[in-house]
Formats: sequence, C-alpha cells, structure tokens
Amino acid sequence: MTDPDYCAEILSPSTIDHWDDSADVIVIGYGIAGACAALEARRAGADVLVIERASGGGGASALSAGIFYFGGGTDVQMAAGYEDTPDNMFDFLMASTGAPDAQLVRRFCDNSVAQFDWLEAQGVPFNRGHYKGKSVIAPTDDCLASTGNEKLWPFNKISIPVPRGHKVAKEGDGGGALAMAALIAACEREGVRVEADSRVNALFRDEAGRIIGVRAKQSDGQKFFRAARGVVLAAGAFGMNREMVSHYAPQFPNSCEPLGIPNNDGDAIRLGQAANAELRSMDGIIATASFYPPEQLIKAILVNSDGERFVAEDSYHGRTAQAIMEQRGTTAYLVMDSAIFAYPEVDNAHHRLVDGWETVAEMEAGLDMPHGSLQRTMKKYNEGAAQGDDALFHKDKDWLQPLDQGPYAAFEVSYSNSCYYYITLGGLKTSSDAEVLDTCGNVIPGLFAAGACVSSIAQDGRGYASGLMLGPASYFGRVAGENAASA
Ligand SMILES: Cc1cc2nc3c(=O)[nH]c(=O)nc-3n(C[C@H](O)[C@H](O)[C@H](O)COP(=O)(O)OP(=O)(O)OC[C@H]3O[C@@H](n4cnc5c(N)ncnc54)[C@H](O)[C@@H]3O)c2cc1C
Repeated sequence: MTDPDYCAEILSPSTIDHWDDSADVIVIGYGIAGACAALEARRAGADVLVIERASGGGGASALSAGIFYFGGGTDVQMAAGYEDTPDNMFDFLMASTGAPDAQLVRRFCDNSVAQFDWLEAQGVPFNRGHYKGKSVIAPTDDCLASTGNEKLWPFNKISIPVPRGHKVAKEGDGGGALAMAALIAACEREGVRVEADSRVNALFRDEAGRIIGVRAKQSDGQKFFRAARGVVLAAGAFGMNREMVSHYAPQFPNSCEPLGIPNNDGDAIRLGQAANAELRSMDGIIATASFYPPEQLIKAILVNSDGERFVAEDSYHGRTAQAIMEQRGTTAYLVMDSAIFAYPEVDNAHHRLVDGWETVAEMEAGLDMPHGSLQRTMKKYNEGAAQGDDALFHKDKDWLQPLDQGPYAAFEVSYSNSCYYYITLGGLKTSSDAEVLDTCGNVIPGLFAAGACVSSIAQDGRGYASGLMLGPASYFGRVAGENAASA
C-alpha cells in the first residue's frame, strides 16, 4: 500500500531556477481542514492556492458520517433544552481524553459555539432535531445526539452529561459529502485557487529556517510553488499506510481494516518530519465494530476468555473496542439471555453467533472458560442488576437487567473473528495557533497544520467521541489559515 517512490524532502530554494506559481498561502490537501484553512486565509486577504493530490476536493471528509463534536451551548443544544458551557465541555474532554493538551482543548471548547455557527454560515446544513437513541450513527436526519462517553461513569460525575454530536442534516450516514460540497462551493465563491492531481513531496526552507514553498509531482513532472506567507499541511491521516501503522502502533491487530481514502497514507506527517516536526500520540487509534444497535444489547455483558467483565457495556463503541483490544488474544464475547436476545445490526462488523445454551454452566464450558468463572461473573452481575447497581463498572441503571432468562447465547466480538475498522488519531504536534512544533518545542516558521495529520483533541479509542475529528479539523483548519495569512 505504501508508495516506494514517495520520499518527503526538505529542499533549499537555491536548488531550483524558477517557481512555477506562487501564492500568499499554500494549503496542502482539500479535505475539511484544507477547505476551512483556505477560506479563512482568503478572507484574511491572502491569495490562496490549494494543492490536492486527487482530481478534486473532498478527501476522507467527504466519506464521513458528517458528525461534528461541538458544545458549550450551541444553538442546537439550547433548542433541545440542554445547558452546556465551555467549562463543562472542557472538564469532560480533559477527564476523558488520554493525554490531553490543555491549551488545544481550552481553545476548542471556547470557540466551539462560534465554529458551529460559522459552518452553518458557510452553508453546511444542520437542523435543530434531537435523536435520543443510542446508535453509532443516528438513522434520522436529526442533528444532536450523544456520541461519546459523557453519560459514562466517572465522567458523569466530573461534568454534566450533555449530547455534543452535531450531524449534518441527512438521514443516517453520508453527511460529510454535504458538508464538503458546501465548503468547496464557498471556496470557489471566494476565489480560492486549486491545483489538482498534484502530490506535494517536498517543502522548501530558506536560510533563516522558514518554510517558503513546496514541490509537487504532476503527470508531466515536478512543479515548484512559492508561498509568500505560509504553508498549511492538511493532507489527512496515515491509516492507509500499513507500514506506518505497524511502526507507530505495533499493539494494533493488523486484521483491522483502515477507513478512509487511499491518499490517507501519511504524506503530511512525513513532510513535517522532514522539517524536524515533533509527532504526538502516534499509537492512538480509534477502532470500531459496534455490537449495538439494537440498544437492548447494551443490557448484555462483555466478558473475556477468562469469563470476566472488563468494561462498562454502555461505553461509546470506540472505548469498548479499545478495551477488547487489551484483552488476552483480543478475545471477547457478548453474553445475553433470551429476554434481550437480538442479532447485532452493524452488518459489516460480522459478529458471529457462537451458540445457544440452556444454562450458564453449559455456556461457560461451550466458550472454553475456566470452570466457575462465567457463573461467578453472571451471579454477581445479576445480583447487582436486580438492585440497579453495577459495583464493578457503574453501568447506568437504564441498561441494568438481570440476565437470568435462559436459554443463553454468546456472540464473539474478538478482533480475530469480527471485522474492526479504524482511523488514526496521531500526527504532528502543533501549538493552539496551529503552528507546527519541532522536536525541541519551537515553532517551525511558516509551517502550519490541521486535521487528521495532527494530533489534536482525541488521543486514543478510550477517549474518542464521534465528531472529534471533523470538529477540531474544521476549527483548527481555520486557525491555521488565518495565522498563515498573517504570518
Ligand atoms: C467512513 C468514515 C466516516 C467518518 N466519520 C466521521 C464523523 O462522522 N465525524 C468525525 O469527526 N470524523 C469522521 N471520520 C474521520 C474524518 O472524516 C477525518 O478524520 C477527517 O475528515 C480528516 O480531514 P482532513 O481534512 O484532515 O483529511 P482528508 O479529508 O482526508 O483530506 C486530506 C486531503 O489531502 C490530500 N492529500 C494527501 N496527500 C497529499 C499530498 N501529498 N499532496 C496533496 N494533497 C494530498 C488527500 O487526497 C485529501 O483530499 C470518518 C472517517 C471515515 C473514513
């Protein structure tokens, strides 16, 4: 999957005798981060050139579900009757994120309401609907939904749980295409120039250490583009680059399939590295193979091959996936009784029904678990559930119901048998002004970055919430564009 011919380089301008084109700000990549950067740089008065490897804009952003994580009291939250504040959102993200960068989180939370308003003003369609069910992607066109671990213990004790997933107004999946269509149309209206079918493979650095241009490969050779004010890296994630994934996230089972476009193979990260950029949270990955919907399956329990529970089953599906990955052999089973039995509805997860059994003891033997283990686990769980209490993981009482109505069944949800899909979360380290930082913590002059090529708010699957890519990518894309234009 990796292109052996691709080698990101740093060049001196003295190595070339001409520039093919120039602009104030050059943006590399035309997904959501690039489009937002281009728009903001253009509105700050800069001549902006987007250089895109594909034949047109969109990127993985156009493939996405179109869920943006925003809060702090957006119009949509208020219309649904929720009170949220930037501080409440900050407290949640700081508590739930593995290794949060407080400055990035603070800035994102403080500007979240304005960022939602800005996207709407660009023509990205959102409505004021509220989906109250628990699903991976709301099947309706409702905007607001709970898409993270806000209601989960202990986060529900640290901040007031409110929904923050803001989905583009489209039934079910696919809202990302609508968002990108609106943003690309806005770029066209504003006069953003685009050089398509051009793969950036080098950055030019002047004697003072400033990034002043890029080289891009086109079908008829290499072209040189000068950036008078700044370069914005917005070329997406590295999930499609299997070598990079196994190098940076060796713990990650290679049976999983990456989500994205083929061009999500880490070019921006490699370009940044060539300029001595620091990387952050490169082992951070969000994987998913949700066992819900249907919601009733959240009342089941997840056990490992020792017959022990290891996670609250009402966790966000990415948190659950991370917990399964940490079990021996990445093996886990979803165990239920006849009262809640149902098949998991996420088709492409392919969770296998192992079997049905008359008793828990037979199920324990059928799943090859240590004698007495699953029986003990279920007895303890059922006793607590009858009292509306889960002493082990504090699963919400809405999902607690004794599993004592035989026969019993188990689905295998192991990485080795189910189909897990993932996106990468790690990338370039940036300041809250979207400046790329070097390995000594200094700003690399003239170089900015945003989107899935940077390590932003989300650090790992445990702390991820749907929308934590598009939300920060759109906001910090704008920050990058504005700062590049004024650099
Ligand atoms: C199926 C799916 C569903 C998702 N759903 C959601 C969701 O609902 N909410 C959410 O927050 N996140 C979601 N994500 C993740 C999210 O879509 C991405 O993290 C986000 O779109 C990244 O935006 P970006 O602008 O950084 O990168 P991209 O949108 O991938 O854009 C990067 C662009 O850079 C171009 N490029 C690459 N290399 C070069 C180069 N060398 N030179 C020039 N151009 C280059 C690419 O061709 C591409 O157009 C989803 C992802 C997938 C795949």
